[in-house]
Amino acid sequence: MIAAIMSLSLLLFCNNDIKLTKNESVMKFELIELPYAADALEPVIGKQTIEIHHGKHLLAYVNNLNNLIQGTQFENADLETIVKKSDGAIFNNAGQILNHNLYFLQFSPTGSRKPTGRLAEAINATWGSFENFQKEFEATGVGLFGSGWVWLSSNGQGKLLITKEFNAENPITKGLKPLLTFDVWEHAYYLDFQNRRADHLKSLWTIVDWEVIESRY
Ligand code: MN
Repeated sequence: MIAAIMSLSLLLFCNNDIKLTKNESVMKFELIELPYAADALEPVIGKQTIEIHHGKHLLAYVNNLNNLIQGTQFENADLETIVKKSDGAIFNNAGQILNHNLYFLQFSPTGSRKPTGRLAEAINATWGSFENFQKEFEATGVGLFGSGWVWLSSNGQGKLLITKEFNAENPITKGLKPLLTFDVWEHAYYLDFQNRRADHLKSLWTIVDWEVIESRY
């Protein structure tokens, strides 16, 4: 019995030791910390959705990427470089990390709910009004068949565009600067809105922090 306990302890110790060593050598990208509590965006995004979306989906992309880049040309590259230059599984995981980092960090329970200044002027010049921009942004997200993201981006001259990107794609691969994004993968809204993607997208406006979006412009 004592021998069994000792060998079990040894086994646990060894496993732990291996795990720590592996983490130290592998860990490169880290899961972002959210600047709000898991329940702070309710009822638009529920606590359980945040916990699963951030704590499980995004964490899995981070762990996958850290494992996949070992021994490749991307081992010491930054995230944007990997997204621009990779393909296959490395691209999918890196793209999803970049997309989710931009997504989660643009929300706030108490933020500025309308664009101001230079960005507001550019939105009005492009779409006529903030309301028209919102309508087109929502319609683009609703019209995306399958999984993906709807984006507001700017080009090198500050011109604004709405685009939809499938799966893990990000506008930076087209030379654009991503400003705002809504995740239309079902995992982003199914617990809170089930099949009602349009209602979910409409409700997201009430938690977007436009000061964050302006700082990206
Ligand atoms: Mn997602």
